[in-house]
Order: sequence, then structure tokens, then C-alpha cells
Amino acid sequence: MPTLINGKATSEKIKTEIAQRVSEIKTEGGKIPHLAAILVGSDGASQTYVGAKVKSCEQVGFESTLVRLEETVSEEELLKVVEDINQNPDIDGLIVQLPLPKHISVVKVTDKIKPEKDVDGFTPANVGRMTLGWPAYVAATPYGIVELLKRYNIETSGKHCVVIGRSHIVGSPMSILMARNDNPGNCTVTLTHSRTKNLPEIAKTADILIVALGKPEFVSADMVKEGAVVIDVGIHRIEDASKKSGFRLIGDVKFDEVAAKASAITPVPGGVGPMTIASLLYNTLLAAEGKIYVK
Ligand code: NAD
Repeated sequence: MPTLINGKATSEKIKTEIAQRVSEIKTEGGKIPHLAAILVGSDGASQTYVGAKVKSCEQVGFESTLVRLEETVSEEELLKVVEDINQNPDIDGLIVQLPLPKHISVVKVTDKIKPEKDVDGFTPANVGRMTLGWPAYVAATPYGIVELLKRYNIETSGKHCVVIGRSHIVGSPMSILMARNDNPGNCTVTLTHSRTKNLPEIAKTADILIVALGKPEFVSADMVKEGAVVIDVGIHRIEDASKKSGFRLIGDVKFDEVAAKASAITPVPGGVGPMTIASLLYNTLLAAEGKIYVK
């Protein structure tokens, strides 16, 4: 049986650690971390994600502010809201839930967020700092994966890590983090994407396989080396009449057959997903304590 990398339990542990630090801050009379989230429109999935983030803030004792804007808000108005939060000394971290409506430029909005408050780690300043190995807010999902590898003592040094998917929020930063001179890190990394030739053959050479392409159950057992560590980032809802909710969640990996070959694997749900919010909270704590950018 492979080691089941339990992101749910690990994220709860991290939240407990953060809550502990918040009570120390309260005792010391310090500043309680405060996260602001901007939600534009009424997309169901975005509302669920933002709701979960705000609820987690309450769970660890943070303050939170949710700014809801109509789908029709202009780009200029949204930029003004971002700027107001940038200038508000009480707010430590700011996230703008994506996707944004088509008439708003994600580039302009991301570029407007003050790097010191960019706890999603999406601004050029933080991506650049991460790439240089400087203190930075690292994007929540890759950061959560690094934390799982660390807490499960998975040896990464000298290993071949294959990342499938090169998005700016998962695959690309993941490849940089796994190649850096640090622990976890020091891997030889192959970053693969939709134009990669012979993907199954490349995937099969991975000691650590990180899958983030967004295709349900894409990775089958014949693409995985015996004893590999497999991290499944994908999340897909599929209809399932046997469930009360009418659906169940699956990942980018065929879990049962790949688990039979892997030495360690993340499940879906309960693997990478819960770590994303834990990382966001951790980044917000770092922001409040001035640990990345000296205040
Ligand atoms: P994306 O669509 O932005 O990027 C997908 C990447 O996969 C692209 O770089 C593309 O080149 C590559 N790709 C597509 N088809 C491919 C193929 N056939 N072979 C090789 N590469 C291929 O996706 P994303 O935002 O990185 O998300 C990926 C998955 O992870 C999605 O299922 C998403 O829901 C999930 N996700 C989960 C979390 C979490 O918290 N667990 C966070 C972010 C994303």
C-alpha cells in the first residue's frame, strides 16, 4: 500500500498552528491578521471558494473582509477598490477571486495589487522573488504541495520530477520550486504541456510526478514508474446518482490503478485541495507579521 498523503489532516494541523500563533499575537497585543477578498459576479464555484476562504479566516482567528461587486462593475471601479485596499493599513492581505468577467483585464488588476499584500503570490514582484529564491508569497497551490512533501519527509534531492501542465498558478511555479536549491527541491525537473511529445514515456521516468493539466483521470498506471510519488492537483465534479449531492470529485489521475504502483499518492478529494487554503492563511500571517517584505 502506498503512503496516502493526507492533505486534509495536514491542512487542519497547519490551521491549528496558525490559530496558536494568532492567540500569541493577541496576548502580545499585536496586530490580528486581516485578509480581504474581492469577488466579482455570482459564479457558483467562485462563491464557494471565497466562502471557504473567509470561513477559514474565522476558524484561525483572522479578521476578514469580503467585497462583493456586480458582474457589470467596470475595470476602473474594480481598480479603485484594489487601490483603496492597497492603501488601507488595517488590511494585510488581498486576493481577487478569478476568473474575472471578460471585460476586465486580469493583467491590469493583478498588476494593481500591492506586492506586499499579494498573498496569492500572483504579482510579477512575487513570482520574480520566488524565482530568485528571495522571500516571497508563493502561489497557494504549489506552496501547499511543497509543504506536503516536506511534512511527509519525501526525499526530493537528485530525483527526477515531471510536472504535467504549465499554468502560471500551478505547473510553472511548481517546476521552479522543485528545481531550486532547497529542501524540498534540488530535483531535475521536466516541465511538460499540451505540445509535449511522448508524454507517457516522459511521465514514466518520474520519481515524483506532479499532475496539473485539468483532464479527468488522464494519468493511468502505464504512465507511472513503480515506486513513484504522485501528486494529483486536478479537481473535477462528475455526476454520481449514488451520492446525496448528486456528484463526486475525481482528479487528473486514475487513483486506484496508479496507487497500486506508487510509493506515495495524494487522493482527490482530501489531497492538494485543502492545502491551498492553508497556504493562503499562512501567507496572510506572514504578511501581518512583515516576514516577507520588511514593514
Ligand atoms: P490550466 O487549464 O490553466 O492549465 C493546464 C495546463 O495543462 C496547460 O499548461 C496545458 O498546456 C497543459 N495540458 C493540457 N492538456 C494537456 C495534455 N494533453 N498533455 C499535457 N499537458 C496538457 O489549469 P490549472 O489552473 O493549472 O489547473 C489544473 C487542474 O488543477 C484543474 O483540474 C484545476 O481544477 C486544478 N486545480 C486545483 C487546485 C487545488 O487547489 N487543488 C488549484 C488550482 C487548480
